[in-house]
Amino acid sequence: MAVPRRYHLVTLGCPKNDVDSAHLARLLEGGELVPVADPGEADAIIVNTCGFIEQSQAQSMAAVRELAAAKREGQVLIVAGCMTQLYGRQVREETPGIDHVFGVGQWHEVARLLQVDVDAIYDIPESNVRVEGPSAYLKISDGCDAPCTFCVIPKIKGGLRSAPAGLLVREARRLVEAGAKELVLVGQDTTAWGEDLGMPVGSGLPGLLRMLSEAAGPETWLRLMYAYPSRVTPELIGTMAELPNVVHYLDVPLQHGSEAVLRRMKRPHNLERVYRFIEELRRAMPDIVLRTSFIAGFPGETEAEFEELLAFARAVEFDHAGCFTYSRQQWTGAYEMEGQVPDEVKAERRARFMEQQQAISARRAARFIGRTLEMLVEGEGEDEDGLPVVAGRTYREAPEVDGLVFARGRARPGERVRVAIEDASEYDLFGRVVRERPGRGRVRAISP
Ligand code: SF4
Repeated sequence: MAVPRRYHLVTLGCPKNDVDSAHLARLLEGGELVPVADPGEADAIIVNTCGFIEQSQAQSMAAVRELAAAKREGQVLIVAGCMTQLYGRQVREETPGIDHVFGVGQWHEVARLLQVDVDAIYDIPESNVRVEGPSAYLKISDGCDAPCTFCVIPKIKGGLRSAPAGLLVREARRLVEAGAKELVLVGQDTTAWGEDLGMPVGSGLPGLLRMLSEAAGPETWLRLMYAYPSRVTPELIGTMAELPNVVHYLDVPLQHGSEAVLRRMKRPHNLERVYRFIEELRRAMPDIVLRTSFIAGFPGETEAEFEELLAFARAVEFDHAGCFTYSRQQWTGAYEMEGQVPDEVKAERRARFMEQQQAISARRAARFIGRTLEMLVEGEGEDEDGLPVVAGRTYREAPEVDGLVFARGRARPGERVRVAIEDASEYDLFGRVVRERPGRGRVRAISP
């Protein structure tokens, strides 16, 4: 292969895959390769695939086939990531034009293949980061030891591996110096952080949060995603409430609201405990915003069990809740389970869930009308009358998964402004930018 100079990288799947791609991009650019938006101009085309569920595999395969079909002489096509970790040989056999196949966590090998001297590059192979506007994802761990019967992640990514605290602290500082205003902590299960380093169950994350809070400084938000229900401990809740820069937001994927289904999923199934920690979270942080996600149509789910899920979601009133239809996944415990639910039933149940949740989310969002919130500006533009408008997120919205806040007024992307909330829909908030008048403690609108 001639020395490659330009690369085109396609990333499919979840934010964690984006973080992995950012890691690869850092390695390649450290080796002086230049990214190009047009695959036709690249010497090397790399696809970071997703193998989470059937739809994502199909999407990854479609992208690979398209790139393979358009490949020109001299180009090298590399396919890596979760899907090839599972089905590498098959993918290669089925798609002529693929030159190399890698699994997950083999970014150094990909870079070496492209003649990058990886040993000469400053790298953070374990923590990995991705900067997205004023926010940066900080992956604190990878892999998972949980036995969830619907999930293929442990098979793809392997067991839990926590990034060392010192490395994460250094990385947090570097990101803040580079302009990040928010660090979003991710991992398959962030609350398991440290267990593989010998820390007692659930005890690592509160300590890590303290270190990162100090390293990031008071002006940087820290946001916690993907908490595991049985690891939302009083210590974690107390730490979140105490640290001023940890936003009052928690994403806890709960997967179901029926104990029988949770048992079959091999998930924590004591719903009393779940109600209790939600109550504790709300007592410690009355303004906390809760996000969760559920699965409709898990094998054997009866109508009565699904109604338990609806009742549970009504009782808790999550601010944001997503619902996926169950996707049958090879190499998981649920794959061979009896009572696979027909697709139409799954879709109908999901639609019913979403209809109920939209009303709940709208009610929860309406609580913010009349309040003034800090907003991190992500973009600016004009409304239909040509007046300036900005869009961004407050502590209530995580990047990419939740809604946005739209406010009349002027501000620059990356700036932190205060927004008086005037209206709300089920996903978004609407208002106007206000600024503190120095020394008077009053606010004035900077635009009509
Ligand atoms: S905790 Fe999350 S990543 Fe781990 S097995 Fe369960 S669903 Fe999969």
